Amino acid sequence: RPFIWKLFSGLGINGFVTNTTEGVYIELNAKNDGQLKKICEKIIKEKPEQSMIESINFSISKNKYFNDFKILPSLESEERFQLISPDIATCNKCIEDIKDIQNKRRYRYAFTNCTSCGPRFTIIKKMPYDRKNTTMAKFIMCPDCKKEYENPFDRRFHAQPNACIKCGPQLVLTDSSGSKINVANPIKEVSRLLGQGKIVAIKSLGGFQIACSAIDNLTVKKLRERKKRPLKPFAVMFKDMEMVKKYLNATILQQQSLQSPAAPVVLLKKKKRTHAKNNIWLAESISFYNKYEGAMLPYTPLHHLLFKETDVPLIMTSGNISEEPIASGNEEAINKLKNICDYFLIHDRDIYSKYDDSVLKIAGGKQMLIRRARGFAPYPIKLGIDVGNRVIFAAGANEKNTFCFLTKNYAILSQHIGDLDSTDAFDFYAATYKNYKEVFGFEKTDAIAFDKHPDYSSTRFANKSINSHIKIPVQHHKAHIASVIAENNLNKKTLAFSWDGTGLGDDGKIWGSEIFITGPPDNNTGGNNNFGNISFKRIGHLKEKILPGGEASIKNPYRMAIAYLYEIFKSLNNKKTLAKSLNSFDEYVFSILPFYKNIISTDEINILKIQIERGLNSPCTTSMGRFFDSVSSVLNLTHISSYEGEAAVHLENISDEKIESFYDFKLSSKAGYPKENSPDLLFEIDDFYIFMQVLKDIEKKVHSSIISSRFHNTLANMIFSISSDIRKKTGISAIILTGGVFQNSILIENIQKKLSFNGFGVYSNFKVPVNDGGISLGQAYIAAIELLNNTNAAIKDKL
Ligand code: ZN
Ligand code: ZN
Ligand code: FE
Repeated sequence: RPFIWKLFSGLGINGFVTNTTEGVYIELNAKNDGQLKKICEKIIKEKPEQSMIESINFSISKNKYFNDFKILPSLESEERFQLISPDIATCNKCIEDIKDIQNKRRYRYAFTNCTSCGPRFTIIKKMPYDRKNTTMAKFIMCPDCKKEYENPFDRRFHAQPNACIKCGPQLVLTDSSGSKINVANPIKEVSRLLGQGKIVAIKSLGGFQIACSAIDNLTVKKLRERKKRPLKPFAVMFKDMEMVKKYLNATILQQQSLQSPAAPVVLLKKKKRTHAKNNIWLAESISFYNKYEGAMLPYTPLHHLLFKETDVPLIMTSGNISEEPIASGNEEAINKLKNICDYFLIHDRDIYSKYDDSVLKIAGGKQMLIRRARGFAPYPIKLGIDVGNRVIFAAGANEKNTFCFLTKNYAILSQHIGDLDSTDAFDFYAATYKNYKEVFGFEKTDAIAFDKHPDYSSTRFANKSINSHIKIPVQHHKAHIASVIAENNLNKKTLAFSWDGTGLGDDGKIWGSEIFITGPPDNNTGGNNNFGNISFKRIGHLKEKILPGGEASIKNPYRMAIAYLYEIFKSLNNKKTLAKSLNSFDEYVFSILPFYKNIISTDEINILKIQIERGLNSPCTTSMGRFFDSVSSVLNLTHISSYEGEAAVHLENISDEKIESFYDFKLSSKAGYPKENSPDLLFEIDDFYIFMQVLKDIEKKVHSSIISSRFHNTLANMIFSISSDIRKKTGISAIILTGGVFQNSILIENIQKKLSFNGFGVYSNFKVPVNDGGISLGQAYIAAIELLNNTNAAIKDKL
């Protein structure tokens, strides 16, 4: 509104502008169509940096004349759906304000903001976005703030969270029991405490962050112990880009991401430590063996003020215990974090919606989101399909959960909710669902989509709590693929690799290395925005094997390694190629991998052996994630995963990128791979054959970094070879790479290069996470396609 007001007043155009729940509404007197067109072009060209124009529509009305140009109060219309801005990092002008000692009201004021920056979605309770509908409602603006708020020439004109030292929220420092500590400058005191190795919880934009010195290894270790987070890397906040570059390599693209209004955590390659005298460096225990460090820049005035007093990088990690949701209320935080943090820097601006920091990396010249939260959600993903006013709810996966509402041509994904296993996480899920429904005005739900797994909390929530006639279960790996189709607006046949840890398959087995041919069915011509139903033909996967004890083997990679070793032991035994002395399985294990004596007992090996033989409480799996786990364990890297994907992350990080050698691989099929026009195209990748070569390298004492590289190179070669083969046979040249496995930088960059160079189109997830954080988009998209095409039998019954 202020922008439009300024623009039109400057042009001498009369009329009015107002916010409605649908968007900005303007009436104006234009001389003719030509002028109107020019005005629209001017709006697009000169729009504020942080704004996004989805579309401009206009119509001509009769005989309405205005004498001036006004801003009218917000209107609530019947159509309540409106796009909402995510939170925005503090702008440069506001940074100047808080550093300017002459600025009586904002010098050192931690809640400074303007129309170009500050909190948005985290403080909105309902629409329209006016102060009374935010958690700022309880603060009455002082006459000076009010003047700014009402002055169209002011930067803070209609800045809803506008506040100053006289009238706005205030900081309070407390000890770990919540008792106030009286200090003149709480931020300065926090900086002093951090310098002493204390751990301080800081109420930030979307929740609490836990801060401590990032150069003090002992403090970081103390935080790890208290937070029960032994190995998962912490994010580090740096004062400015100069400080980032001292420790980490940042390309231009990475710097742009760091400095963008979303201010995410960006993964940057570590620099080699320089050993100058008294040279401080990042603590080793922030990320251990990782080649990358998660870096971010200050994004609130509070962060900027803290770094005014601090000259070292700070750990800034989510205020939670292990994988639970981030704490956002003062009392909640003190209750939950009192055993982790020595002090709390709190304030009285409430956080209505919890938002974690977003995490991304640059891959193939693009931002690839790993965790989509603050600064990104709930900005919608624009789709190539339009479901009109219908509303589809997709419940998402069980881990790294997000949910998705799909309406019109928008998919609105929630912020990262996380793993739904704890009650707290589930409450967060339910509360966020309610919040989105309210804020976006979704009163009815026309269809729900969810994972096929009946025990996912998200699946149960969708089926129990939402009233919808149309219920569409979506297989996990198909959802991964559909998320790529959705964000890339694909309407053609593709060869899709959907590789991850686990997902329930159509056959009741645990899938995870699935290869599909997807796209519109053969009889569908597409075109005219008529997206055909997406057909999925599963054509390949890893060999099926037992996942001994199910969940237990997901958390303990060494158990999966035993499953692989047992299969190999059996085949060697059959071929009688084993030395005579090794006739028992445990002997075999300890002979080739002596360090396993410290990992697993003979008894456990024998229990596992029985589990594998009888399949007791042990599902059958084709998981690619478990393949990575097993290799990580036999290389003596990770035997027990303290966080999801740890074993694979470890394997990736020790690899030597210069190594170009690889292992041989075999694909097999009963029907003969891949027979042209064969109705039974299904083939198997012989992962045991690759595993055996890994073991041989271990025997030859080849360095782990070389084995890891060979392993990665083999998978890349395999994808390339399968793609080439399928293209020859079917003409399909579009390749989809999705699922958590493709978070692996070496793998994705290696494959992308190879495929692109050879004329393939390569598609993956960039706007939503390639991991299970993107599942909800795929679920919603498949449901939308089914609704549009009316192809689902259940839908036909119900309509
Ligand atoms: Zn600002
Ligand atoms: Zn004020
Ligand atoms: Fe997955």
